[in-house]
Amino acid sequence: MLSTDSHRLIIGLTGGIGSGKTAASDFFASKDITVVDADIVAREVVEPGEPAWLAITERYGNDVLQEGQTLNRAWLRQKVFTEPDELKWLESQTHPRIRDCLIQQLRDATSPYAVLVSPLLFESGQSTLVKRTLVIDVPVDTQVMRACSRDTNDEEQIRRIIAAQIPREERCQRADDVADNSATLAQLHAQLETLHHTYLTMATSTARKQ
Ligand code: ATP
Repeated sequence: MLSTDSHRLIIGLTGGIGSGKTAASDFFASKDITVVDADIVAREVVEPGEPAWLAITERYGNDVLQEGQTLNRAWLRQKVFTEPDELKWLESQTHPRIRDCLIQQLRDATSPYAVLVSPLLFESGQSTLVKRTLVIDVPVDTQVMRACSRDTNDEEQIRRIIAAQIPREERCQRADDVADNSATLAQLHAQLETLHHTYLTMATSTARKQ
């Protein structure tokens, strides 16, 4: 199994749906910090022709395919929702590959520290890839309001997704750092600016110890 480069400080950035993870990772990217996105990698490992795509299409045949040979995610979601063994099998095909790709991308990072953004950082075990965790936190009603106004998702769907994620209190308790995003983006950026300098200092002392 691959392991991350222990010389580099890696920050795991997470938060519930609509909490502002993208807003926060855009901030770090604007500081030339390498950002690795677990959602993007999760989509890449099931692109047509990839080993996980081959395994999935072999198991489910044409049912799982849509136009352009991409996976029909709605069909697959329904399948694993109703059949827990299928979920286990699917995760056995995708999780190790996602993990290896994340490790590879984190190893290729060029900035003093790197950020791994993952909506399910704690739930998926990806927190073992990082040295420190940062939660972007907002009250549930704000999450629902922002996620609804951004997507076509209705409130009920958003609340179902929130219920399937770890509770807000537990997420914050498990975090090393928490940024409150209940106010303006400028206020979020001010907190992230402070954290950015803290992480740069930590990265320097981590590098010195090696
Ligand atoms: P998801 O989990 O669904 O990918 P996310 O955690 O990445 O969401 P964002 O996409 O960054 O969250 O933010 C959700 C929505 O809320 C976006 O439309 C974004 O522009 C808006 N938003 C984020 N932060 C603020 C803020 N402080 N004030 C107002 N709107 C905000």
